[in-house]
Amino acid sequence: MKKFKSLLPIDEEGYYGRFGGAYIPEILHSNVKALREAFYRYAEDEEFKGEFDQLMRDYVGRPSPLYRADRLSERYGTNVYLKREDLNHTGAHKINNAIGSALLARRMGKKRIIAETGAGQHGVAVATVCALMGLDCVVYMGATDVERQQPNVERMKMLGAKVVPVHSGNKTLKDATNEAIRDWCCNPDSFYIIGSTVGPHPYPEMVAHFQSVISREIRDQLRTQTGKETPDYVIACVGGGSNAAGAFYHFIDEPGVKLVAAEAAGKGVDSGETAATIHVGTEGIIHGARTLVMQTPDGQITEPYSISAGLDYPGIGPLHAYLATSGRAKVLAVTDSEALHAAMTLTRMEGVIPALESAHALAVLDKMRFGKDDIVVINLSGRGDKDLHTYLANIKN
Ligand SMILES: *Cc1c(COP(=O)(O)O)cnc(C)c1O
Repeated sequence: MKKFKSLLPIDEEGYYGRFGGAYIPEILHSNVKALREAFYRYAEDEEFKGEFDQLMRDYVGRPSPLYRADRLSERYGTNVYLKREDLNHTGAHKINNAIGSALLARRMGKKRIIAETGAGQHGVAVATVCALMGLDCVVYMGATDVERQQPNVERMKMLGAKVVPVHSGNKTLKDATNEAIRDWCCNPDSFYIIGSTVGPHPYPEMVAHFQSVISREIRDQLRTQTGKETPDYVIACVGGGSNAAGAFYHFIDEPGVKLVAAEAAGKGVDSGETAATIHVGTEGIIHGARTLVMQTPDGQITEPYSISAGLDYPGIGPLHAYLATSGRAKVLAVTDSEALHAAMTLTRMEGVIPALESAHALAVLDKMRFGKDDIVVINLSGRGDKDLHTYLANIKN
């Protein structure tokens, strides 16, 4: 197989330290192998990269701005920069991976795309790209989420996707992912676009690769704006870990750059209603990878909770399990109320309404101290339009 030079701390079998790998049913082996070969073949192919870069620019609207938030900087006594992924087409970073993956599907001659979605952001991004490229699209979504996220369901349908409600388990993201994998087993001619840096190798590596455009741009933009291309801190929220992987990617090998991940504590790490997988999880296997998982002592996956549907996942990408346990990344747990407070601060001080997921990263400003000369980059993974209802129901003033 062609050697692909990844900047990630990953081995030949797709392990990041003890985490990762590909724990898949026999029936998917040839599929996953074909995907790995296609990814390594095209990741560095000039024509493929040219097509990806052009769509990033002309369709998504990249580069997304790196914005110095002056009023926030003053309040926190440091230099706060926001990477504006919220300004991308469809409102979040998810479109970067959806486009890269769909281009790969097209190269592999696939005509039918499968995806899972929780809040619906990944489903919308995939449905969008399928409309753009004329591909059939089936999106699995927990029945509970179909009800909670009606506007995104309508968007996917308008874009021509078939949305399949999943009635098993808790009827949320984990169950939708199981169903998408089941579909892939039955339809090996289809291409499965996963929504985060999770799943069997090569998915975590591949999704991180397509999202790495975020940190590549941060370097260029910092060099132009400050004369220095590495920040002191990069902060991102983690659900499965794709926006964080993209924001960290080009800094993982730079020991001077502190990486900070914000996971969702829900009502508190010890409340029993949390999605803080790195804090409360133990080693196990979920959706094809060895990683940290929220589970009972006998291995039953426990239900995650967060006010933010995009962070409500009982696992974590293997890259982040490794960065956290090796000490390379610092992980903070941010509660619902801390995230709501941070969202309101950004809204009233900078005129930007963030996604609830991104608000978890912003809340780190209240939980850490920074020097006055530090450069602190926060990845603003998405916009808050989809969360207005939750904000209005929970913020009083
Ligand atoms: C889906 C989503 C997330 C969480 O997913 P990651 O893979 O951890 O990035 C974060 N922010 C927004 C805006 C999202 O839509």
